[in-house]
Amino acid sequence: MSNRTFTMIKPDATRNGNTGAILQMINAAGFRIVAMKMTRLSKEKAGEFYAVHAARPFYGELVDFMSSGPITAAILEKDNAVEEFRKLIGATNPAEAADGTIRKLFATSIGENAVHGSDSNENAVIEGDFFFSKLEQF
Ligand code: GDP
Repeated sequence: MSNRTFTMIKPDATRNGNTGAILQMINAAGFRIVAMKMTRLSKEKAGEFYAVHAARPFYGELVDFMSSGPITAAILEKDNAVEEFRKLIGATNPAEAADGTIRKLFATSIGENAVHGSDSNENAVIEGDFFFSKLEQF
C-alpha cells in the first residue's frame, strides 16, 4: 500500500483565490507535502495528462479548462493516501460531494471542481512523475 498521492489545485480554485485555504485543509487532514509547484499546463500537456479520458464527450472541455490558467501540483504523503485524499476531496460532482469536503466547499461544477486526486496507487506514481523529477520528490 503506497502512502503517497498526487493532487492539483485546478485553474478555477486558483482564479478564485482558494489555493491557500485548500492547502490548509490538506495539512489539517494530516497530509505532508513532499513536492509542490505552481505551473500552467499547455493544451498539449493537459491532453497528455488526461489521455485516459480521450474518448469521453467532455475531453475537449476538460483540456481547455485545465490549460486555462495556473494550477498548483503536489505530491502528498499519509497512510493510505489515495483513499484518504479521495475522501477529503469528495465526489466529482460537487452537488453530490459530502459536507466539509474540498469540492463541496470550493467546486462550482462537475467540470470545474477545484482539485484533482489520483484514483489508484499506480496512477499516483505516474501522475507525480509527470510533474516532478525524482530530485524534486522529498
Ligand atoms: P475525478 O477522479 O473525481 O476527478 O473524476 P473523473 O476521473 O471521472 O474525471 C476527471 C475530471 O474530468 C473531473 O475531475 C472533471 O474535472 C472532469 N469531468 C468529469 N465528468 C465531467 C463532465 O461530465 N463534464 C465536464 N465538463 N467535465 C467532467
